[in-house]
Amino acid sequence: MKKYISRVVKVGPYKLGGNNPVRVQSMCNTDTRDVKATVKQILALEKIGCEIVRVAVLDMEAAKAIGKIKKQIHIPLVADIHFDYKLALEAIAQGVDKIRINPGNIGSEEKVKAVVMACKKNKVPIRIGVNAGSIEKDLLAKYGQTPKAAVESAMKHVRILEKLNFREMLISIKFSDVPLMIESYKLLAKKVDYPLHLGVTHAGTPFTGTIKNAIGIGSLVNEGIGATIRVSLTGTPEDEIKAGWAILKAVENRKRGAELISCPTCGRTEIDLIGLTLKIEEALLEIEKPIKVAVMGCVVNGPGEAREADIGVAGGKGMGAIFVKGKVIKSVKEDQILSTLLEEIEKIK
Ligand code: SF4
Repeated sequence: MKKYISRVVKVGPYKLGGNNPVRVQSMCNTDTRDVKATVKQILALEKIGCEIVRVAVLDMEAAKAIGKIKKQIHIPLVADIHFDYKLALEAIAQGVDKIRINPGNIGSEEKVKAVVMACKKNKVPIRIGVNAGSIEKDLLAKYGQTPKAAVESAMKHVRILEKLNFREMLISIKFSDVPLMIESYKLLAKKVDYPLHLGVTHAGTPFTGTIKNAIGIGSLVNEGIGATIRVSLTGTPEDEIKAGWAILKAVENRKRGAELISCPTCGRTEIDLIGLTLKIEEALLEIEKPIKVAVMGCVVNGPGEAREADIGVAGGKGMGAIFVKGKVIKSVKEDQILSTLLEEIEKIK
């Protein structure tokens, strides 16, 4: 399949689609009306690389909170709205950067028009989001719960917006079944040229959900499909951002921060390497320098195997040998490995 190059749609300061970077996004799980808690969560997400964030807008109070939230954050904010066009109008008035709403569910043509006019006036794009569970009954009867039905459903919404001469849209088609998700996006990419928002819906817990998303999102991004991704997990939004970045880095689509290389441990390991690696991974999330860090269980193979790493540690008996570019520079006690590594990382230009 030839590379899918979509048209470009602007979301806040970002250009999505075309040859622009694939952006990582997540969704808050706070009550949007609770501005303080929502802002706190978004600021924490920004620190670990969240580039676009979505909030659920369930009522007018939530829609009105958008302006206050926007003032305190630094990344584009998306309002997730179902059915109620008044909430969309209020979110737009409050300065939201994008809305997720399915035009076919808004109701009368007048209401759809009102939302589209407000979006045009304020340069707010719309994401159409079809989920396997939300496919219309007539399409289900005709095609079953298949990629064809999902794509047809998305196209119904697309045509409504195109009829109103509105093309600032992104589209998602989410299945929890990975092969169906992949097939749907590929089918959609043959029919439209809009930027695509990728995700596997209801993917499960961070462990299985990340695997499902990695296969679904990862294989599509690897083929050039996808403008933005959201890894849905039954976990925290932080888990989603971590997974999103890990997926994009694994398919070498984006670079951000440190790359961690760690050994699988074996009978030669004499420190708590698994615990240490998890702590280092957590600490590296906030480091934006593009460095390679190696965490190895032993001095026999450690420094040699991780020679290309900028910095690393090789465990010994209750201690760790800190090495830079494959050469041991000092040895420290096990409880000082983490802080020493972070200090050394700090020194790297
Ligand atoms: S680096 Fe050492 S401890 Fe780790 S797997 Fe290799 S031999 Fe075992």
